[in-house]
This record gives sequence, C-alpha cells and structure tokens, in this order.
Amino acid sequence: MQPQPQPHPREHQLADHLESILLSEGQIRARIAELAAEIEANESTRPDLTLLVLLHGSLLFAADLMRALSLPLYLESFRVASYHGGTSSSGELTMDPQSLSALRGRHVLVVDDILDTGRTLAAVTRVLREEAGAASVTSCVLLDKRVARAVEFEADYVGFPIGDAFVVGYGLDYDGRYRNLPYIATLKPEAIGGGE
Ligand code: 5GP
Ligand code: MG
Repeated sequence: MQPQPQPHPREHQLADHLESILLSEGQIRARIAELAAEIEANESTRPDLTLLVLLHGSLLFAADLMRALSLPLYLESFRVASYHGGTSSSGELTMDPQSLSALRGRHVLVVDDILDTGRTLAAVTRVLREEAGAASVTSCVLLDKRVARAVEFEADYVGFPIGDAFVVGYGLDYDGRYRNLPYIATLKPEAIGGGE
C-alpha cells in the first residue's frame, strides 16, 4: 500500500505541494540500518575512515547513517551545487579547495543524497583521487536514478534505486525548499516551475 502524506500542522503548506510519498521515514530508517551493516562489514579494513558529506542534500542522510555506524570515523563536508534552481543537473561543480587538503592520505567514503547523471560523484571522486591524494575512495548514496546516467559511474553502496522522477525531502530540495520533510516525496507539477 502506498503510504499517504500525514502532514504535521507545521508541514501543512509544504505537504500541499506533494504528489505522493515515495519513501516513508520507516523505509528510510530500515534501509539505513542495512547500509550501515554493509559498510561496517566492508570498510572495517580501511583505518580511520573519513565520511565526506556533500552538502546540503546529504545532511539528513549522513546524520542518520553515521549514527548507525559503530566504526571509528572522521567527518568532513563540502558544498557542491549542480542544480541552480532547476530540476535537471547542470553538471557545474563548486568545491571548496581548503576542505580537500584535509583528505590527503585518508580512506574516504563520499556520502551523497542522490546519484542522477553521475556527473557530481564522477567529478568529486576524480578530484579526491587525483588532486586531494586520498588513499582510497568509495561512495554511498541514498537514492540512485539509474536510467538518468550521463556519465559512467556506480556507487559502492546504494540505498534505493528509483525511477527518473524529481524528488524532494529528507535533505533534497527544490529551489532551496522541502529539505526538512522527513520522507522522500514527488512534487505536484504545479509546485515545480513557479506555480506557488
Ligand atoms: P548528478 O551530478 O548525479 O546529476 O546529480 C547529483 C545531484 O543532483 C544530487 O546530489 C542532487 O543535489 C541533485 N539531484 C539529482 N536528482 C535530484 C532529484 O530528483 N531531486 C533533487 N532535489 N535533487 C536532485
Ligand atoms: Mg547534492
């Protein structure tokens, strides 16, 4: 059965913009526990693993994932932007070069919200290997739009494969909004493209 939006009064206006809930809080929580177990089983041989959180989209996912991990961890983050107010990836990437220096010699697990065209993670992992001098690089994404790939890239850990719809919530935004929804949802067409 498809879970229906259960808006908290505070979320009322946001929930009005939603078409349907794709992944509920419970589904996300359960899958993160499985991902954490997978990561612990594979990554325990990589000492001092560093989670590199790509902001802002991965903020909620990373916060929940790291609490589910009992490995010793370092945490780094930087900001990447690829959408600039639209709903398709521009492929442009902004990275803070200062954050990169902290990753030299580290075993890095890049945490991102969603893998779409693949341009962001392909570029980030290339920079980590070739410019930042990371000892090793793996990646973990909550969502994977496999059909949308423009460049060859596969994440090592995937929460949920999803279709090509534009999704919001649980950190993911549309033009800066909806990140605070605790679930992943699709937007009504009228909420996209200025239909306030
Ligand atoms: P890629 O470079 O793989 O095309 O895009 C990855 C980034 O695009 C994600 O980190 C996310 O910021 C954004 N993105 C891709 N698909 C979606 C989507 O369905 N919803 C939202 N809100 N952002 C998306
Ligand atoms: Mg992102």
